[in-house]
Amino acid sequence: MGRKRRKVIKVTRRKLPKVFSCPQCGMASIRVLINSEEPSKVVCGSCGLTWEKANVSNKKEAIDLYNEFVDEFMSRRG
Ligand SMILES: [Zn+2]
Repeated sequence: MGRKRRKVIKVTRRKLPKVFSCPQCGMASIRVLINSEEPSKVVCGSCGLTWEKANVSNKKEAIDLYNEFVDEFMSRRG
């Protein structure tokens, strides 16, 4: 049969959405950028709130860093 087999590449995305809600402006526009070499960042695309943390293992989940950020943000606010 001259039927060409087309390669079907299934892309299964198991990535969870890495967008969280901002404790400052309330928008779901927080992005968590985990870097093992540079400081990791938590950035709000809406109000511009930025938080950095050095020496974050890239085994860490975005949600973990986000939780730390929220904790610190809340305690800083008093
Ligand atoms: Zn914000």
